[in-house]
Amino acid sequence: MFRSLNTRLLISYVLVILVCLALVGLGLLVFLRTSPLWTNLIALRLDAAARATMPTLRPALNSPEALSSLLAAAADEQEVHILLVDDRNVVRFDSEEAWVGEQLEEVARLRAVQNRIQGTFTAPNGGRWIFAGQMIPASGGGRQSLLFVAPRLTALVWFAENLLPPLLQAGLVALILSVLLALLISRSVSKPLRRVANAAEAIARGEAGTRAPASGPAEVRALARSFNTMVDQVEAAQQSQRDFVANVSHELKTPLTSIQGFSQALLDGTASTPEATARSARVIHDEAERMRRMVDDLLTLARFDAGQMALARDPVEIGPLLQGCVEKLMPQAQAAQVTLVLDAPEQLLVAGDADRLAQVFANLIDNGVAHSPAGGRVTVAARQLAEESVIEIGVTDTGKGIPSEALSRIFERFYQVDESRPRKRGAGLGLAITREIVEAHGGAIAAESVMGLGSKFTVRLPAQ
Ligand code: ADP
Repeated sequence: MFRSLNTRLLISYVLVILVCLALVGLGLLVFLRTSPLWTNLIALRLDAAARATMPTLRPALNSPEALSSLLAAAADEQEVHILLVDDRNVVRFDSEEAWVGEQLEEVARLRAVQNRIQGTFTAPNGGRWIFAGQMIPASGGGRQSLLFVAPRLTALVWFAENLLPPLLQAGLVALILSVLLALLISRSVSKPLRRVANAAEAIARGEAGTRAPASGPAEVRALARSFNTMVDQVEAAQQSQRDFVANVSHELKTPLTSIQGFSQALLDGTASTPEATARSARVIHDEAERMRRMVDDLLTLARFDAGQMALARDPVEIGPLLQGCVEKLMPQAQAAQVTLVLDAPEQLLVAGDADRLAQVFANLIDNGVAHSPAGGRVTVAARQLAEESVIEIGVTDTGKGIPSEALSRIFERFYQVDESRPRKRGAGLGLAITREIVEAHGGAIAAESVMGLGSKFTVRLPAQ
């Protein structure tokens, strides 16, 4: 029941209004108790009534009956309570006809100019009253007092009669306003929230391309933006998953077709001569090997993605490591008539996994050799950058180069520069794995190239 924003806002507004009214009321009450303001107000009103009435009485001062009827009329007209008391404080006339003949007690009379009097007395019923009035001559000689009287209210009663009603009215107006405000504010929040929810439902139904409109208060707009960013990422992830499956199928198709064709030839006797049999067996073996390498690479990448790739953190000497890589690839380089040059000083230490780092440089040198023409050269150079405790290893070749539009994508999975090459070397996973390994070591890899002159791959690793 208190779930909706509207109700919560309304309840909090009402609480604030009630607390404010109570505080204002309490403040007024405290002020009234310590201030004679309200008593003075009553005295002033009585005095004003007395002044207004006096002139009209003058002609009737000698006749008690005429005076009584005039006083009754005045009490009616001015809505005041009027008493006439003799010099022993016994009531001779009472506009309310309650206390005639009774004696007033404790009359405290203050006398002002020209017979004007003012003060308090205890009424026959015990209450304390205040009065304002005038001494006038009595018809039988002597003097009597004409009193305009009113009960001397306690602060609480006066407050309840005079201040509470306007306070309550103000509270009512505030209440109506707060209902309207709560409705408005809750709408301004819930409507844009509803739109984000609608967008989420549409996407769940499979309406791709739907986005939440960013409207309403800043917080809701931020929510809509975060939601849209998340949808972008989810859609990109879905797309890359689809691409991945398409790439893997595509890469497996060629070797599988070869294997199927050549095994068929073996089975149906088309490849019957010993040479043809051996050739078929070799193709089948090579293609199976290619597929195994690709599956290995995919498993490696999957382990990096899952964060399950356990890398050693040993001190690794880069010089000997590069030396090992160069030696391993020497036969291949000689076959391709490519010169391999190594330039690495002693005592370059990084913390890492020697086997994985060897894989990085073997892969880069292998690429360099493979893309260099006969007579070309692949240079491997390592050095420590003095100011930055970074070790930089460059692998430079004199190959045909990489087109600039391909340079930015070369580390992507399955990306290959020249898809139409008849005999592909790999599946475009080599550089992707290379980058994963380098980054897992806290390093970075970059490629630069000039078409026709060659390419350079630069690996930077934090020195130990
Ligand atoms: P693969 O394992 O298929 O060789 P890589 O990820 O190693 O794939 O390389 C991606 C693409 O970059 C390949 O298509 C390759 O032609 C190109 N490439 C890599 N190194 C070089 C290089 N040194 N010179 C020219 N092209 C290169």
